[in-house]
Amino acid sequence: MAVHRRLLEAYGEPRWRRPLPPVAELVSTILSQNTNDLNRDRAFAALRAAFPTWEAVRDAPAPAVIQAIRPAGLANQKGPRIQAVLRAITEERGRLDLRFLRRLPPSQAADWLMRFKGVGRKTASIVLLFSLGLPAFPVDTHIHRLSGRLGLRPPRASLDQTHELLARTFPPETYYAAHLNLIRHGRQVCHARRPDCPACVLRRLCPTGRRSLQGRPAAMRARHG
Ligand code: SF4
Repeated sequence: MAVHRRLLEAYGEPRWRRPLPPVAELVSTILSQNTNDLNRDRAFAALRAAFPTWEAVRDAPAPAVIQAIRPAGLANQKGPRIQAVLRAITEERGRLDLRFLRRLPPSQAADWLMRFKGVGRKTASIVLLFSLGLPAFPVDTHIHRLSGRLGLRPPRASLDQTHELLARTFPPETYYAAHLNLIRHGRQVCHARRPDCPACVLRRLCPTGRRSLQGRPAAMRARHG
């Protein structure tokens, strides 16, 4: 909670981009794998412009989908995966609709999604948290790195294990803001190679920061109070 409160003081209540319905969120999150938000949004917009419905995406010739999502990169892999997931949902549910997941316990809803190739724990957790309003704590590479440096998880915990650990560490009502603010902090301050510990609002709470600041001049340690 101390980490969460400090990040709220620094960044305020964050806003996720406009929430998407669950099938759209799932497609968008698959597109986001191994690329940045801008390329994901470009590919998503191109896909929506090329096909009027998700059923049309599902039934389209594979090359047409691949062509539309090129801006996201790995289009030859992501296109067939998206179509396979859309087909599998239709086969199991009789239509392209994931809203039924809201009625399942969150762990079951995540397991249901993770049976599909290309849908890992992070992707499933994003759909649960941001589209279905279910408690899940998505962990990306920034959050994995930060949680390790802050000592919020054991040093060797994998990315998958960290989802569960952080879901137990943060209260569910903080997941949304904590997830987004930790990512922002990882991008802006706690960089992978050179974390800016002297400027970091978490440095008093962070064992890694305290270690790295030991031995630096007092003026630098006190740069931000
Ligand atoms: S003190 Fe340094 S290592 Fe710790 S969270 Fe801040 S930037 Fe990252």
